[in-house]
Amino acid sequence: MSRLDGKIVVAVDGPAGVGKSTLAIGLAREFHLTYVETGALYRAIGWVARERGISPDDEAALAAIAATLPIEFSLEGELNRVILDGRDVTTLLRSPEMGPLASQVSAKPKVRSALLDRQREFAKLGGTVAEGRDIGTVVFPDAHVKFFLTADVEERAHRRYLQLQDAGEDVSMAQLIEEIGTRDRQDSGRAVAPLKAAADAIIVDTTHLSVEGVLDVLREHVRRAL
Ligand code: C5P
Repeated sequence: MSRLDGKIVVAVDGPAGVGKSTLAIGLAREFHLTYVETGALYRAIGWVARERGISPDDEAALAAIAATLPIEFSLEGELNRVILDGRDVTTLLRSPEMGPLASQVSAKPKVRSALLDRQREFAKLGGTVAEGRDIGTVVFPDAHVKFFLTADVEERAHRRYLQLQDAGEDVSMAQLIEEIGTRDRQDSGRAVAPLKAAADAIIVDTTHLSVEGVLDVLREHVRRAL
């Protein structure tokens, strides 16, 4: 066993479409870590609110949903299944309108504070890799390894474009650049837990790297920490 006794915490932060999920799942599989997709929590709150006809500006109601959200994750191969109250909502939460809605919901301080302990609970079972926007700064400020991934907005939009094309969906690059840029500005500009690199984060610009190339870099840092 490593000096961290299996309790390593790895933080993976960065803007929309940078490839956090693929990379964090890659690390989870390789080092046998629990994978925590924190964006799914904000997406799920937005989704439940919409189902119940609750306004995305009703902070108290959203915080109440956050505090009791019956959510579970199950990593199957490269897919992180999200189970909400016994129902598989993986695909529903990924639909294009859920990103902006999650971003709107996530700017509410009471929602964020209701989720803090819940996110930390996931890491109590053993080694963890958590992915999001404020993992290294707020959720796990003592994480053993912190990554902050970046890539030019055009490159991130292009990656998303290829994914959507694969899924048979038709969107323009211009539309994706606009959507991703808007979400980044919203996430970076909010007052509470904005998207930003922790002072001790390892910043990796992935613009010109393949997934395997980035994974090689991250893997080496995690290995050294163990
Ligand atoms: O990562 P994902 O695209 O699923 O996140 C959806 C939204 O949830 C982000 O745009 C951001 O507003 C919010 N989020 C956050 N803090 C996190 C993870 C996600 O504010 N740790």
